[in-house]
Amino acid sequence: MGIKRNRIVVKVGTSTLTNELGNTNLRTMEKLAMTLADIQNMGNEVILVSSGAIAVGASKMHLPERPREMRMKQAAAAVGQCENMFLYDKFFGYFHKTVAQILLNAEDITQEVKKENLANTFEALLEQKIIPIVNENDSVSYTEIESEDKLFGDNDMLSAVVAVLCAADKLVILSDIDGFYDKDPRLYKDAQLISRIEQIDDATYALAGGAGSRRGTGGMRTKLQAAELATSQGIDTIVTNGQNPEALYDIVKGKKVGTLFVAK
Ligand code: ADP
Repeated sequence: MGIKRNRIVVKVGTSTLTNELGNTNLRTMEKLAMTLADIQNMGNEVILVSSGAIAVGASKMHLPERPREMRMKQAAAAVGQCENMFLYDKFFGYFHKTVAQILLNAEDITQEVKKENLANTFEALLEQKIIPIVNENDSVSYTEIESEDKLFGDNDMLSAVVAVLCAADKLVILSDIDGFYDKDPRLYKDAQLISRIEQIDDATYALAGGAGSRRGTGGMRTKLQAAELATSQGIDTIVTNGQNPEALYDIVKGKKVGTLFVAK
């Protein structure tokens, strides 16, 4: 009997990767790298979708706040992407892992030829036990930076698109909160975690507030959209807290963590 391969796409948001000052949260990043390396050592395939380029770039450029002007956002993204990959390379390197950078635009997956090339690249990297680290190509496109409703809108959607493209078994979205609640826990102290959702519909969307934390961009709405896409393609989607990347050990074992959106 063969061992079941688990192909997992893990998305990590800006609010997990940076602290209140907008600087890189090194402890979380290191824990995340160690956990993903370990999970790969256990025979799983791992793809990381990582945001945080603008916040990290703004901090490295000593900008007083997150830039508002498009060109400055894109400049900060270029600086921050480089810094993030440098740190990932270093942290994953401690655990003898090789990482690869993949930057994507919406057009890349709407064009059949590009989409196929991309899928082949992912396969080749995974075959070589390399961990692809994916982000939207913010300095070229601005869907994540600007829009609410364009194709990717936010890396949450990008992570679902990547999960579908790579025929992943699981999509894990790491956020700054333990999962999906019956109302925004930042506004309501009595909010209750929903541990399992079989069906995402208008009633589910009504529970998600607007865009989330100050540093994050998507809020729960884009996580629901991502979960809706991934689950419709047979991919279980889990939303859980990125401050505790070790939860990924339980997730690969199929234990209950955060909120599970059940695959169709
Ligand atoms: P990230 O950067 O991790 O993507 P976001 O800040 O974009 O995080 O999204 C997470 C935020 O969404 C939470 O901190 C919370 O304030 C907000 N939110 C709104 N509605 C809900 C809900 N129903 N359940 C959980 N979080 C919610």
